[in-house]
Amino acid sequence: PSPAGSLAPQAEIPNDLEAFWMPFTPNRSFKKNPRMITRAKDMFYFTPEGRAVMDGTAGLWCTNAGHNREPIVAAIQAQAAELDYAPAFQFGHPKAFSVASRIAALAPGDLDHVFFANSGSEAVDTALKIAIAYNNVRGQGTRTRLIGRERGYHGVGFGGISVGGIVSNRKQFGTLLAGVDHLPHTYNRQEQAFTKGEPDWGAHLADELERIVTLHDASTVAAVIVEPMAGSTGVLPPPKGYLQRLRAICDRHGILLIFDEVISGFGRLGFGFAAERYGVVPDMICFAKGVTSGTVPMGGVVVRKPIYDAFMRGPEHVIELFHGYTYSAHPLACAASLAALDVYRDEDLFGHVLRMEPVWAEAIHALRDLPNVLDIRTVGLVAAIDLASRPDAVGARAYEAMDRCFREHDLMVRITGDTIALTPPLIISETQIGDIADKLKRLLTTLH
Ligand code: PLP
Repeated sequence: PSPAGSLAPQAEIPNDLEAFWMPFTPNRSFKKNPRMITRAKDMFYFTPEGRAVMDGTAGLWCTNAGHNREPIVAAIQAQAAELDYAPAFQFGHPKAFSVASRIAALAPGDLDHVFFANSGSEAVDTALKIAIAYNNVRGQGTRTRLIGRERGYHGVGFGGISVGGIVSNRKQFGTLLAGVDHLPHTYNRQEQAFTKGEPDWGAHLADELERIVTLHDASTVAAVIVEPMAGSTGVLPPPKGYLQRLRAICDRHGILLIFDEVISGFGRLGFGFAAERYGVVPDMICFAKGVTSGTVPMGGVVVRKPIYDAFMRGPEHVIELFHGYTYSAHPLACAASLAALDVYRDEDLFGHVLRMEPVWAEAIHALRDLPNVLDIRTVGLVAAIDLASRPDAVGARAYEAMDRCFREHDLMVRITGDTIALTPPLIISETQIGDIADKLKRLLTTLH
């Protein structure tokens, strides 16, 4: 037998599909019948055979500016040639400060300091750690509890799965963080089915926070974290007035409110952040994905000025927050982000989302009478279609939908349970919205 490890002759290493343990994928099904992508441009992916597949999901809700946009590609190429890497611990490079300033300017109110991470999961863990540390530095160290929400998704770090509310993300991993509680989710099909935008019913569910705080006592609660619009568990726009009510309860009890805007940030709902759409200023915003239009990993947290200031009181030579990542503010990510933010601004893509929102809603809601459709929700450039589950095979119908969309209808969609989720790049045209709806109509008509 040939030697293994570093002595193995490279030519003998088989290029099969086995070694890659694929994330959030049924590995055996994929490897039997792969869905491969080798190239992308604007609204389309291309398969190895050159088939164009309409991207109905902006990758994983991230390539907001569309794929392989020239200004972003050029910025990344130039940055790689100029400064490949620089540490952000004790040293800095100018683009890191520029991106932070641009993001701070995009965020509402006094959300004006930015801590960089590399993903949504890291952004969430960072925000939760800042919440605990902030309460320590302000002399309220008993505030350690964190409150998330059922059906919340906050990535896959131990912090994120602890405050998250997806059972399958939690059940395999032991006891997780202690001292976590959850608000009820805000979805109720009877009250909300086929709503365009924010449902009228459900603001009162925010009052559950009051009950949870009373149970634990406010002096033990550090922060509440919610997605303004829950994305990964099937697109749940917030009921009208719900987020305002959460804000008011947090204010009453000195509790920090964290918005996880990993999906809703950078234009998905027609604004830099959903906080602006809803007129609610949280204490921290987690971001990732669209910050670089998905091109280079980057995430982070925007914090309000009083939080940052509270850390800036000790001796000046001492590190104020013991936290950071080797790749925080990576030069390639910063270059990509500056270019992406320019594209968003120069092409008025957030405004485009607001102009497309009614067109999008109309096109997707037109599918409501097709077989097996139980509910459709739309908001911004996001949509979800709930399908009836097959008896004893939850998820099977949507899985087939996703697979057949890709193979037969040249459309990429995402699924969660038996829900199809759609989140196209923000550059989508009216015609392309119609194309997506047509493809889905043809699929759903024949999906049994
Ligand atoms: N938070 C939210 C709201 C998300 O939707 C996601 C990913 O979809 C994450 C966090 C995790 O981001 P990442 O996969 O970059 O760690």
